[in-house]
Amino acid sequence: MHGKLRPVGSRVPLPSSVAVSMPWDSAYEAEYCASGTDALAMAIGLAILARPGVEKPEVIIPAYGCPDLVAAIVSQGAEPVLVDLVPETPFMDLHQLSEAVTDRTVAVVGVGLLGIPERLEELAEICNDHSLALIEDSAQCFPPHSTRQRVADFVVLSFGRGKPINLMGGGAMLHRGSLTGEQQRYLEGLPKEKIQTGFLWRVKRVLFNLLMSRIGYLLLERVPGLGLGKTRFEPHGVVTRREIPAGVLSAGLKHQSVRSSPHVLYEQQLQCLERAGWVLLGRERFRVAGMIAENPRLRFALLAPDAAMRDEVVRALNAAGVGANGLYEVALPGVDGIPLSKPQHEFPVAADFAARLLTLPCHEDVTGADVRRIAGILRAVGDLSPG
Ligand SMILES: *Cc1c(COP(=O)(O)O)cnc(C)c1O
Repeated sequence: MHGKLRPVGSRVPLPSSVAVSMPWDSAYEAEYCASGTDALAMAIGLAILARPGVEKPEVIIPAYGCPDLVAAIVSQGAEPVLVDLVPETPFMDLHQLSEAVTDRTVAVVGVGLLGIPERLEELAEICNDHSLALIEDSAQCFPPHSTRQRVADFVVLSFGRGKPINLMGGGAMLHRGSLTGEQQRYLEGLPKEKIQTGFLWRVKRVLFNLLMSRIGYLLLERVPGLGLGKTRFEPHGVVTRREIPAGVLSAGLKHQSVRSSPHVLYEQQLQCLERAGWVLLGRERFRVAGMIAENPRLRFALLAPDAAMRDEVVRALNAAGVGANGLYEVALPGVDGIPLSKPQHEFPVAADFAARLLTLPCHEDVTGADVRRIAGILRAVGDLSPG
């Protein structure tokens, strides 16, 4: 094969002339903003205002995740409190979550990693017991779980590169439409920008989409100093609202809803690796929730039997032109420059998860032949079981 199959990312569609309704229209109101990080920061700002008098507010997040979670929390003057994961899953340990709640806790963030929704109903029980806001971070998961079950108080969406709906940036914060006067004033006090979809936007879109081709991605990866896909901590600036034209949003939603996702074929092809100690992430969750077909994955995620095997498979796949990788590679405390005090070894499950996670491309350009070829390499390198 020529070029390289990008790890993630869908093409940016042209704005549509027909506005479609949003899947959250009946349950939530949307405030659009400049990014998913802005959306999360806004939700946290609102959660803090809902609990006046809390001196140094705390927000609970999983110990493995996107460093922007920490940036958003810190930007609102709050402190991130990490909770370790349930072994072999991306989900927070509920017992440790309950233990982490203090009288300064204002919110819990449930993250749908790579398209696998958190068990929000169970998080909601804990939040209700302690009057905490439940925030569904659905930046990697579309449609958000809360549009089916109106369970979260706030929902975070991202329209950035490498997210389910790529609009070259942007985000949305969904709320239940029952904001207090003070919360409304907070939102209205945030700066607001407008997106123009003129000539420059269209040129940028064409370039963006060209770089998603196999040749485009191979070239992009070779640009020195770009640090494509590297995990870094970046402090968040001013939280900014954004007007996103209805045609841009509608096109993004339509494009997302008609895309095929090869995750079912991956499952069929890779199931046999389970006897060699691999874990196909999300299978149980989807079986329980009965939503395998409707929820595409952002990337197909597995846990290798150990870190060495993960690294070996990543090397083999990349050598074969497949953009497979370990996503963030470290748990949150291990991210360069991140303002967290507890070290990674205090979250052993998240550290283990980070070292063993393998993600495979699962976007619209991954063909059935690609999946079979990827699975073939994985079985050849990763299956150490006898016979
Ligand atoms: C990407 C991401 C964000 C931040 O979204 P941006 O639009 O990149 O700011 C927040 N949470 C999760 C889980 C993400 O994956």
